[in-house]
Amino acid sequence: MSIRIDKNKCISCGKCCNVCPGNLIDKDDENKAFIKYSQECWGCTACLKECPAQAIKYYLAADIGGKGGYLYSKNHGDYMDWYVVSSDNRKYHIKINKKDSNAY
Ligand code: SF4
Ligand code: SF4
Repeated sequence: MSIRIDKNKCISCGKCCNVCPGNLIDKDDENKAFIKYSQECWGCTACLKECPAQAIKYYLAADIGGKGGYLYSKNHGDYMDWYVVSSDNRKYHIKINKKDSNAY
């Protein structure tokens, strides 16, 4: 499992570098984020949730039926929108109320 970062979308805010618990993300010479050790990523999705530019996609592993499918997220105040894009390009949307999910 790993993430991919789209350099063209990255706005160089550095949030993903700061939030990754494994310190796996760094900046390149153009001040764009990149993953240093993709094989070390355990898919916590913290970087996706923090990225304000939707530049980070999380690729779903083949053993859970990913086949090239991926997910990304958008933060909207109390809500988090998750988008899952399947390998045949179908898109699914899940809206999470963060206040409700933090209540447990
Ligand atoms: S998914 Fe988690 S472990 Fe993987 S790069 Fe992002 S923050 Fe780091
Ligand atoms: S959080 Fe997103 S926009 Fe900010 S540095 Fe990381 S990839 Fe770039």
